Amino acid sequence: MDIPGGTPIIEYTGEKITKEESHRRGWAQIDHAKVTGDAAVYIFTLDDEYDIDGNFPENSARLINHSCESNCEAYIDGESIWIAALFDIAKDTELFYNYGFDLDCYEEHPCYCGSEKCVGHIAGEEHWPALKRKISRKKSARKASALKS
Ligand SMILES: [Zn+2]
Repeated sequence: MDIPGGTPIIEYTGEKITKEESHRRGWAQIDHAKVTGDAAVYIFTLDDEYDIDGNFPENSARLINHSCESNCEAYIDGESIWIAALFDIAKDTELFYNYGFDLDCYEEHPCYCGSEKCVGHIAGEEHWPALKRKISRKKSARKASALKS
């Protein structure tokens, strides 16, 4: 059975926390990741005041990977985050959605999705033009310094 486009598939559940608590947990998880190599951070932006920390085994939605060519999207309905099908998805197809990160610290979020459309970093599609400009500026800067040395 295929999943028809537009279907809400799974809710991204977790604990509603303030931005302050979110930053604290985010940094704690990064420190933890440095020790264990487990780089996963499962904090999802809910609105300007609150985030959802989805780092709980019951939250299966946390296991859905990012892709630059995704078949799902995340949307916020009131205080709930849902992952919905962007178009009809065939049975047994892996689900992906764009994590929609902004460009702060984009270099720390390399993307390995393997899609032909991959932009090299995890970022929301609305940021792709700016991201591509940043990357090409960097490349030409690197070339210039390579020529100098
Ligand atoms: Zn990618």
